[in-house]
Amino acid sequence: MDSYFRAKDILDKAMGTDSYFQIKSILFGLKAADVVEVRHGRWIPEACESVSKRNRLIEYRVYSCSICGRSNGRVKKKYCPNCGARMDKEADHE
Ligand SMILES: [Zn+2]
Repeated sequence: MDSYFRAKDILDKAMGTDSYFQIKSILFGLKAADVVEVRHGRWIPEACESVSKRNRLIEYRVYSCSICGRSNGRVKKKYCPNCGARMDKEADHE
């Protein structure tokens, strides 16, 4: 997988070095890659209850996206299927 860097980050690193202006001219001569910024979210658990056919109480959790708020049912996927956020943030406390 390719690595992408922010031009600003590279220039911040190069700041004060002899090659700053050279790097800057190289960067501005390049075509910017079509990169979507990854949003980082987490699944927010919500406790649910339902009653089974045998009248037993079933407790389960559903998870909703911390970015878009949409529920993804009981599945915790790596990415939110609705907004595409990457679910790698630490949960506060479950
Ligand atoms: Zn989402």
